[in-house]
Amino acid sequence: METPRHAPQRQFAVADDCLRLGGLALTRLAERVGATPFFAYDRGAVAARVAMLRAALPSGVLLHYALKANPMAALAQHLAGLVDGMDVASAAELRIALDAGVAPAAVSFAGPAKSHAELRCAVAAGALLHLESEGEMERVAETGAQLGLTPRVAVRINPNFELKHAGMRMGGAALQFGVDEERVPAMLQRLGRLALDFVGFHLFVGAQNLSAGAIAEAQSHSVNLALRLAAHAPAPLRLLNIGGGFGVPYFPGQCELELAPIAAGLERALALLADTAPQARLVLELGRYLVAGAGIYVCRVRERKLSHGQVFLLTDGGMHHHLAASGNFGQVIRKNYPVAIGNRMAGGPRETASVVGPLCTPLDLLADRVELARAEAGDLVVVFQSGAYGPSASPAAFLGHPPALEVLV
Ligand SMILES: *Cc1c(COP(=O)(O)O)cnc(C)c1O
Repeated sequence: METPRHAPQRQFAVADDCLRLGGLALTRLAERVGATPFFAYDRGAVAARVAMLRAALPSGVLLHYALKANPMAALAQHLAGLVDGMDVASAAELRIALDAGVAPAAVSFAGPAKSHAELRCAVAAGALLHLESEGEMERVAETGAQLGLTPRVAVRINPNFELKHAGMRMGGAALQFGVDEERVPAMLQRLGRLALDFVGFHLFVGAQNLSAGAIAEAQSHSVNLALRLAAHAPAPLRLLNIGGGFGVPYFPGQCELELAPIAAGLERALALLADTAPQARLVLELGRYLVAGAGIYVCRVRERKLSHGQVFLLTDGGMHHHLAASGNFGQVIRKNYPVAIGNRMAGGPRETASVVGPLCTPLDLLADRVELARAEAGDLVVVFQSGAYGPSASPAAFLGHPPALEVLV
C-alpha cells in the first residue's frame, strides 16, 4: 500500500514502538481516557498549524474557523485564542463560539433555512448574519425591528463561476446557498431601504480542494465580483469573506496544499482592496485545514478473524463515530484514510488486513485491505486526519452502540 507523500502520521512522534500525542504515549493516553474508542486532538498541532498558515499568508488576511468542522467546546476555546473569528451555522454552534470567548462581532452565521429563534439569537448577540436569500433578508429586518436592534448583515453571493477541483461544490450552480449574482444588485437596493447594517459579502464556492491554482483563481474571481457588486451596496464594503475550501490530504498520492500561489493571489487582492475599498477586511474561513491533521481516532481490536483468507480486525469503533473514514460522508469512491496500529509503530511483522466495526452493515469499514503491523486483540487502531468531520458528522445513534469520547491533549 502506497503511503501519502506527506504521510500525516509523521507529524506525531513515536517512541518505544508507540505513537505519542501531546507528549503522552498512546497506550497511556488510552488508560487515562479510560475507554475506547476516542478522538484525541493535539492542541500543540492545532497551534502549529495556525502559525504555519499565518506565516505563509499575507498578514492583512483575517483567519476565521468554521466551527462545523469540529465543534468540540474545548477545541473551540483553544482556537478562539488563535484565530480572528468563527463561522457558525446553527444556534448551537453560535453558543459554542460565544462560550469559547469569541467576540460576538467576530462571529458570522451562515446557512440556509435559519429558524426564527436562530435569527433572534444571532441578532441579539450582535453576530454577523450571512444572508442566504432575499426572504431571509426580510426576516432578519423584521427580527431587528422586534428586538429594537439594527442587524449586521453580509450578503452571501452564489457566483456564476465554479471552483474547479473541489471535493464538494457549494457555488456556481443552482444551489440553496447564497443569492445568484445577477439578483444581488436588486437585493442590495432593497437592503438599503431596510433597517440593516450592510457590512459586506460572503462567498464560499467549495470545500476540500487540493489545487492551489484553482483556489487562487476562485479567490481572484470572488474579489473582482464582490468589488463589482459593491457599487450597488448601500454602504462601503467593510468585510469580504472569500471562503476557503483549503483541502487536506486524506488518501494515498494526495499532497499538502501549496500555499505560495494562494498567498501571491491574496497579496494582489489586498492591494486591489486597498485601492478600491480601503475599509474592507479580507477574511478566509477554514474548517478542516486547521484541525483535521491534529486529530486521531483510536479504537481497540476485539478480535482477529479470517474470512476467505482475508484478515479482519474487528474493533470497538466504526462508522457510527467516523462516517468520513468509512467513505460514506459524500465520497464518490471509497478510499482508505491513513491508519496504523498505534502501539506497534516500529518494526515487527506486517500483514494486509481490513479494519471493521461492530455495526451490522458492510458499510462499517474503517480500512479496506491495508498494510498494517500484525495486530492482536487489545491493540489500538489509529485513524489519522481525524480532527475534522468526526463525531459531529457521524450517525452516532445507528445501532445504539456507545458514543466516542473526545479529548484535547
Ligand atoms: C463547510 C463550510 C466551511 C468549512 O469547510 P472546510 O472544508 O472544513 O474548510 C466553511 N464555510 C462554509 C460556508 C461552509 O459551509
